Amino acid sequence: MIIMQDDKRIKISNLNELIKSCKKCPLHLSRTNVVLGNGNINTKIMLIGEAPGRNEDLEGIPFVGLAGKLLDSLLNENNIKRDEVYITNVVKCRPPNNRTPNKEEVSSCLPYLIEEINIVKPELILTLGRTAGEAISIIFNYEWEGLEKERKKIREVMFNGTKIKILSTYHPAAALYKPELKELLRDDIKTASKIIGNKHKNLIDFM
Ligand code: SF4
Repeated sequence: MIIMQDDKRIKISNLNELIKSCKKCPLHLSRTNVVLGNGNINTKIMLIGEAPGRNEDLEGIPFVGLAGKLLDSLLNENNIKRDEVYITNVVKCRPPNNRTPNKEEVSSCLPYLIEEINIVKPELILTLGRTAGEAISIIFNYEWEGLEKERKKIREVMFNGTKIKILSTYHPAAALYKPELKELLRDDIKTASKIIGNKHKNLIDFM
């Protein structure tokens, strides 16, 4: 068990070194910091957003702005703490003016996300927003049916021998100013928490 945990830690650390020096797409030109995945690599829940925003770019940590605070509070409502989950983004560098990353940028960065999933091996992936939902549908080769339909489904995929459930919901940034989306996001995080139960509590923190 300890050997496996060390193995995970070494793999994520090697991956992060690679990402930190990445210049595969033009987003490296405008970044202040590469924003690496963050949290517990032994978690059962992995949350995936679109891209770093301004605060994330400045601090080099995902979901630290207002959207992150909303996410934290909705996780807390379900007794889930930030350091009990692993959070990452589809692209690791901030797109200028917070625009949506384009297809080329997403496909350049996708191998890193695939490797993060491979290392963390979560039981549940919660995608936040359309870009993350679509990226995951590309990785697992299913047809993306749009956020409204996808958020009502729990998909199940096999990935390198691990069964992973996938739930799609809105990005907290979209929910910040739209109370109706906030309620849907709240419902979906509750569903995610029910799927996982208390398993996220049985963790050893490595990071
Ligand atoms: S967004 Fe991803 S692929 Fe593009 S430079 Fe940053 S780490 Fe590399």
